[in-house]
Formats: sequence, C-alpha cells, structure tokens
Amino acid sequence: MSSELKDCPVCRSKASCFPEFQHNSVFYDCPVCGKFEFTLNEFRIQHNNHLAPYLYYNRFLGGLSHTEYRYHTTMDKETCDTYKKNFNNGDITNGHPVHMDEDIVNNWYPKSFSERIDSILLRVSSLAKHIGHPVKFNNQEMLSLLFIDRKEVMDNPAFISKDVPKWREDKDCLSEADYMLDYLKESGYIKDYLQLRSETGAELTLTPKGYARVDELQRNTSYGRNVLVAMKFGEDTLKLREAIRKGVDNAGYYAVFIDEVEHIGFITPELLKHIRDSKFVVVDLTHQNNGAYFEEGYAMGFGKPVIQLCKDGVKLHFDIAQKNTIMWKTEDDIPTKLTNRIKATID
Ligand SMILES: [Zn+2]
Repeated sequence: MSSELKDCPVCRSKASCFPEFQHNSVFYDCPVCGKFEFTLNEFRIQHNNHLAPYLYYNRFLGGLSHTEYRYHTTMDKETCDTYKKNFNNGDITNGHPVHMDEDIVNNWYPKSFSERIDSILLRVSSLAKHIGHPVKFNNQEMLSLLFIDRKEVMDNPAFISKDVPKWREDKDCLSEADYMLDYLKESGYIKDYLQLRSETGAELTLTPKGYARVDELQRNTSYGRNVLVAMKFGEDTLKLREAIRKGVDNAGYYAVFIDEVEHIGFITPELLKHIRDSKFVVVDLTHQNNGAYFEEGYAMGFGKPVIQLCKDGVKLHFDIAQKNTIMWKTEDDIPTKLTNRIKATID
C-alpha cells in the first residue's frame, strides 16, 4: 500500500493519505487530526465544523512508532465492532477502529463558550511538560484547539458535495483565533503570546490562575459531559449498548464505552482517568460482570453518582441490591427511563 502526501480534508495540514480498496475508503494520518478514515459514501461529516476539534482533542497519533492501532472511522458501527473483536482476538489486519458519526461528534462538542474555554485550558495543561512551560501550537493545531470553524456553514444540505469544500479565508479563521486568545489572556488564564500569527504558530503558557482553573475543573464533578458506561461488552450486548448510548445522549451527555477508548496494555490507568473525568457513571449489572462491579466501586470511591441498570428478574449482588436501580424488560425500555433518571438525579 503506497501513501502520498495530501492536504488533510479536515484541517488542511499535510497528511499521509492511503486509498483503502477493501473498505472503499481513504485513510489519513494527519499530524493534527491523528489517524482517521473516511468511507466514500460518508462525506456529510467532512463538512461538519465540529469534526476538526473532535479529532484533535481525541486523536490517535500514528507517527513513527506504529504501536497505535486505533483510528477514527466513518465505517458503520457493526463493521467496527467486528474488526475490534478480531483485533482483540489477535487479528490486527484492520486495526482497532473507533466509529464516529455526526451525532457522536456533535454530542461531544462543547455546548457553551465557557465549556470551550475550559476544554482549551485542560488541553494546554495536559500538553505542558512541566508547570509554567510554554506549549507550542502551529496554526492548524491552534484553530482546532480554539474550536474555530474552518468551513463555510452550508445552509442547504442539498448543496453539500464531496468535491466542493468551502474553506473559509485563513485571515478570518486566524482573527477568530486571536479573539479567543485575547479572551484567555484578558481573563488572566494565559500569559502574553506576542509572537503569534507567523506561519510557525504560537506558544501558550498557562498562568497560575490558569492552573488554578484547571485544578478546579479536574476536581469539580460538575464539569464536562462525559459519562463512563460500565457493562459487559460483546456481540450479545450490542443492542443494550446502543440503548444506553441513546438514553445518555438524549439527556445531553456523551457516553464513553471503555472498549472504544482503552489503550492496549494500559486499561487500568485509562479506565481510572475516564471514571475521574466522568460526571457520573452508568452501570448495567445484568450480566453479573465483575468488571462492572469493580468500576462501580471505583466510581463511588471518587464520589461520582452511579446510575444502575439491570434486566428484570436478574438477582443482584447483595451489597448493591438495595440501591435504587432502573429495572428493564427489553432494551427498548432503556432510553426513556435512563434519560428521565439522569434529568431527575444529575442535572
Ligand atoms: Zn488534519
């Protein structure tokens, strides 16, 4: 398989590009967006301005190491699940795909200006090697970091076509980036960033006030829209999983399933991080799955609210049987019940 260097269709950085004949798709390895794949019949998502920040904040970087098998893809969910299963069984031919679609991207995207600011501060802080160190961003990274739209908003979806990306003028994007940076500076979160707007990008340094905000966000359970879902994963629970995802989505949150994010060999630190970053945790106990009990225990240890689900008729472990649990008869019961429970107990 040969690759060529092309403009990334999401951020316009130079990216390696491979046609994938088997999937009827194109695979990209972009230094800003990470590894992702567009199937040829799925181009609407490419015009979605939320996609560039989504990929940047959640990216799987390839680079020289070749140890990263995960990639975002618009391939359908079922195929992703199959490839993922093969991967876990040792067949790495198709890597470890992570499904993305417009709903997933839009649900992840910050819902307010202040949420954007919070996400930016957390990101800069996580990239700083040591406290007070500057973090370098090139212009494309900066636009994704700051949630700047790169494409014209198309009013009429009928005009959206694969071949006509309507890119906004660079100067408009960059002046919006300046607007965000000015705000961050005036709020006292970052130091002055004078060398900005050259082709080489800019360096950002958090102030002590910026770090204090990051600390507060990391401690504060009210931050963020992520929700870790603990359950048995497998072919037999796909319907259950989608029902839970729908219930969580409808309440305005974003369901994180650990098998979509786990880093091979590092499941425990990654899992703990996701529990810590979640506003609350949803646990389905139908399959008497030890992992789910374990995750629920950790969530409680972190002081996170836990919403329990269980299929009607399954006997629950004594310790948690007394907890108020959503009992469901079929998966179709779940979305509404779960959404209502979230609204009643979390929001
Ligand atoms: Zn890119």
